[in-house]
Amino acid sequence: MLVSNALLCRSGSAVQFSVFAVMAAIGKCTVIMCAMLGVAAGVKKDEYDFVIVGGGLAGTVLANRLSESGTHSVLLLNVAGAPPKAYSSPVIVSDEFIMKSNMTASEGLEVRINQPGYKPVPKFSTTETGSSPARWLGGSTLVQLTLYLRDHPELLDTWSAEGGDWNWEKLRQYFHRAENGASRADSKEWLSAGSGTPDYGNKGPWHIAKDPAYVHPLTEQFLKAAEAAGFPRLGDLNTQQGKGVAITPVSQHSDGTKMNSYDAYMLPAMDRPNLVVQHESRADRLIVQDGICTGVAYRHLGYRTDHVVKAKREVILSSGYIYTPRLLFLSGIGSQQELEAVGLPVVQNLPAVGKNLTAARFTPMAWHTREPSLSQMMGSPISPSHSKAVPESFQSAVLEGTARFRSSVAKRENPRAERPDVVMHFMPLYYAPKSAPIQYSLQGESWPLTTNAYTLLVTLGETEAKGSVSFQSGAPDVSPVVTHDPLTARDKEVAAEAVRLARKVGGSSQFAQPTQFVENNAGDADMFTAVYDGRGTCRMGNDQLTSVVNFNLEVHGVERLRIVDGSVIPQGSPYLAVPEVLALTERAADLILHKHAHELHGALAEHTTGHESSHQRKQTGPAATVPLSALIASFGSHTTLTQAVSHLKFINSAPGLAETAEETERPSVAIIAGCCLGVIMLTAFVKVLVTSFSKKVNGPGSESLLA
Ligand SMILES: Cc1cc2nc3c(=O)[nH]c(=O)nc-3n(C[C@H](O)[C@H](O)[C@H](O)COP(=O)(O)OP(=O)(O)OC[C@H]3O[C@@H](n4cnc5c(N)ncnc54)[C@H](O)[C@@H]3O)c2cc1C
Repeated sequence: MLVSNALLCRSGSAVQFSVFAVMAAIGKCTVIMCAMLGVAAGVKKDEYDFVIVGGGLAGTVLANRLSESGTHSVLLLNVAGAPPKAYSSPVIVSDEFIMKSNMTASEGLEVRINQPGYKPVPKFSTTETGSSPARWLGGSTLVQLTLYLRDHPELLDTWSAEGGDWNWEKLRQYFHRAENGASRADSKEWLSAGSGTPDYGNKGPWHIAKDPAYVHPLTEQFLKAAEAAGFPRLGDLNTQQGKGVAITPVSQHSDGTKMNSYDAYMLPAMDRPNLVVQHESRADRLIVQDGICTGVAYRHLGYRTDHVVKAKREVILSSGYIYTPRLLFLSGIGSQQELEAVGLPVVQNLPAVGKNLTAARFTPMAWHTREPSLSQMMGSPISPSHSKAVPESFQSAVLEGTARFRSSVAKRENPRAERPDVVMHFMPLYYAPKSAPIQYSLQGESWPLTTNAYTLLVTLGETEAKGSVSFQSGAPDVSPVVTHDPLTARDKEVAAEAVRLARKVGGSSQFAQPTQFVENNAGDADMFTAVYDGRGTCRMGNDQLTSVVNFNLEVHGVERLRIVDGSVIPQGSPYLAVPEVLALTERAADLILHKHAHELHGALAEHTTGHESSHQRKQTGPAATVPLSALIASFGSHTTLTQAVSHLKFINSAPGLAETAEETERPSVAIIAGCCLGVIMLTAFVKVLVTSFSKKVNGPGSESLLA
């Protein structure tokens, strides 16, 4: 009897389970069908003048500039929506918030990373590496450290080594168009060391702080140590371009919070009727017919529905150095051999897709000190319990000071060139070489952080060693692989010189004594790791075998398809790429608008004013920042970092903001009504089916199991 009851229950719950599964599946299908109907019936245009894929730094700048005149209809597709307000807070607070709330990884948008000297990192996500390119609108600028260091003019001139006119003279006006850095003239370091006018624009949306909001006392000692080792003290690292040392210029608001391109470029454009921002949308394939790109196939990640949108004038890829080459590859544009290997049809043979990856390589050399480093200023449980939290220090850009020089190898190779190819960034905390790319600042050791040390991040900017992004499959849900090749013999010679000089600066008597080198293998040739940023995987050039786009950034052999993001930059550099992507995109917008100006002369705007489907609605988000003063107001003058981060979590879940988070979809009234009706009808239908099915399985009387 017991046995038969148990069997009955089991079969009953199996039936119940399958009933609910069936009903859930049908309900979900109904929602999807209704959503699709909503899209189709919403009279929403599925055609725009320009379709931009990727709403990171380049994508948000482009969306703003291309929609500015009101003449063109513009669609911006991005994986995620408006960023949490928490990202617009002081650097270390937002870093830690990002660490704790990994909201950036999505299916098919993770990356496996291989680097010499380190074991492979299975996932490029905050949980594995402490950081990853972000998916929200604003892209990687949301997770940046705020360093604002422009490439040397000589490096910018090399972009056009094979032709074209991408050079310092041309780009300078575009840096200036983006920048708001005039206040640097009043900065402490400029006044103490510089003269003349700082070389920044002063009307652009990208704010470069007069002085970083916080500079640690150890950084002052570093400046003196570098000077003693022969580095001239500079007033500003972007205006004076040679060897020297100075405080690092930063992309920070005057309240000490981080800049990002969502705030700077996206928000001011949100109300334009000719701009539609479509979030939760992952572009999976380009539509190319007879050598012309006519549109984009994308997946709505929330509804899991597939759609196509057409571009009347151009499709512009701005998905960054990993995902732009990936989208080309998924669309049959890449190395013929590699495409055939995964069974994808070849649309255009371009072997340089995903190749020529350049990324600065660095190693974190550290010295023990008795001065309390940043690690001791975060409060418990991050810092040891006896140390007091110093909230002002949360505003540090971490890489607070920068010294740079040209290596003997580079001088020998090109005696006339002057640009520094080696950089030493000073960090007033211990950075452990634990994984590659290295984790965020406070994650190198377990908490409380006991190693009290300062670090020189020795960086090689122009290595012979390159890397690649490769694709194991033609399926959009399979993530790409990033591989950084080992340093060559030439690179190791540069590394050895850089390490020697770093030892001289880091061990200088200018630092409060005693100091002691931290023996952790940092500085060894196989302990140089690439950073999170990359360039070159769709580099510009003339030759279809070695480049992906021409000097107008148009993809070789495919009409009406352009790439505008960090992937087209053909030259490596010691610095991360915010300034270059800003200038490149500002110029690309001019190129695009100029090309289409004659076609639109006198035309009225073709606005996309149809009904917006739920995922095509305008994105709104946080206009304001969360400065340190707001955090201190909540927790007092000894706010710990953990308290600050938990406060941000609270802000993040506040009602106004939740509406913009990627999980939140707000279907239109029509869709909701349609869905409800559909679900009611289908549920009734399923119940009839299930009842008769259940009678068959369990015999008469078993309906009670379904009640
Ligand atoms: C951790 C970290 C710290 C950094 N710190 C600094 C710094 O301090 N200073 C500095 O100068 N630079 C820094 N950088 C580099 C800088 O942020 C990047 O160079 C810059 O943002 C690159 O711009 P992008 O437009 O090419 O790509 P991103 O800004 O990365 O934007 C790519 C966008 O494409 C979207 N996307 C990708 N695939 C798809 C798809 N299939 N469909 C739809 N959308 C897609 C993503 O959602 C993302 O929004 C940092 C980068 C990282 C990752």
